Amino acid sequence: MRKTGSPCSGQSGLPNPAFGHEKPHGKPLWLLAELTYKCPLQCPYCSNPLDFAGAGAELTTQQWLDVFAQGREMGAVQLGFSGGEPLVRQDLADLIAGAHELGYYTNLITSGVGLNAAKMAAFKQAGLDHIQISFQASDADVNNMLAGSKKAFEQKLAMAREVKAQGYPMVLNFVTHRHNIDQIDRIIELCVALEADYVELATCQYYGWAYENTEQLLPTQAQLAHAEAVTNDYRERLAAAGNPIKLIFVTPDYYEERPKGCMNGWGQVFLTVTPDGTALPCHSARMLPLEFPNVADSTLKEIWDANPSFNYFRGDDWMQEPCRSCDEKDKDFGGCHCQAYMLTGDMHNADPVCSKSAHHHKIVTARERAETVTNAPDQFVYRNERNSRVFAKG
Ligand code: SF4
Ligand code: SF4
Repeated sequence: MRKTGSPCSGQSGLPNPAFGHEKPHGKPLWLLAELTYKCPLQCPYCSNPLDFAGAGAELTTQQWLDVFAQGREMGAVQLGFSGGEPLVRQDLADLIAGAHELGYYTNLITSGVGLNAAKMAAFKQAGLDHIQISFQASDADVNNMLAGSKKAFEQKLAMAREVKAQGYPMVLNFVTHRHNIDQIDRIIELCVALEADYVELATCQYYGWAYENTEQLLPTQAQLAHAEAVTNDYRERLAAAGNPIKLIFVTPDYYEERPKGCMNGWGQVFLTVTPDGTALPCHSARMLPLEFPNVADSTLKEIWDANPSFNYFRGDDWMQEPCRSCDEKDKDFGGCHCQAYMLTGDMHNADPVCSKSAHHHKIVTARERAETVTNAPDQFVYRNERNSRVFAKG
């Protein structure tokens, strides 16, 4: 279940007002617009909040266009249209056109469900630069079992072909886990056949719905090592054959000894705006016991520069040991605060992925369980309205 922190606790409660002053930071170069939490699919690793069913009303077209304009004024250059499924928004072409006029490089991040050739052409006319389609697997059975839809796979294939036919650059994204990682060769073959420009073989990260399904999703060390070796082999062979496809393999944190530098630093480069207008330094941050501002109440500049929650993890004065005196703190900034919060109950702790963390044994235990667990897909907690309403009730 989603954890809620005590607002009165010194360690994991609300921000200390002393952190409210502005701290050094970069520009929000990358703006992620989560247009809606509605989605026809039910992926059990979805990074949307568990309680999305309790979120407020979605921003209007004009509110989104105002956000995009403010973002550009602050230096944002990349704009991702995400969700949920952004195609659910009937004003998507208008939003793309507005963003294009402002000078953004625009990227549609979609499951492909709800897309068709006419919409794709209209988006191109509106100025859309790039389309990323997510697949669940390389065959219909596994794909549709994970997506919770009988027709999703064929639709994705058709739309991937159409993306190329219409001359868009294309990213294909596969979230990999124990149910599909052994098919990595077939996944790569499919991507080659579809003429993808980039392929993200993104091993599942355990936030949101994925955290609820960790046991059902976490691959074993051997599965991971095999998949990485196969990918490296394909990379070499494809390059030697002159194929320009780029294969990007992302290892799950749970098999690392040091955390990644989360979001290139909290409030440094990335800015997410959720469907109801909540502004976040990272799309998962809503789970933390911090008060996040809404674009309906403050300008984006006020939020980015001066909001206490955006300043909270900037710099290192929030750090505890072992991070405080660590000579690697400028590389990873203490890791992921959401992971620290989920696994230790205190967002100020070092990310337990780090072998220097006193809580690292929780990661090691999860790896050990992955070696022994037997699971069936019907044990998944699927991401859907019904399950979300249960989380929203608390
Ligand atoms: S991960 Fe799956 S359920 Fe979540 S928004 Fe994407 S397609 Fe929908
Ligand atoms: S102790 Fe903290 S700063 Fe040092 S490597 Fe681990 S997570 Fe990073």
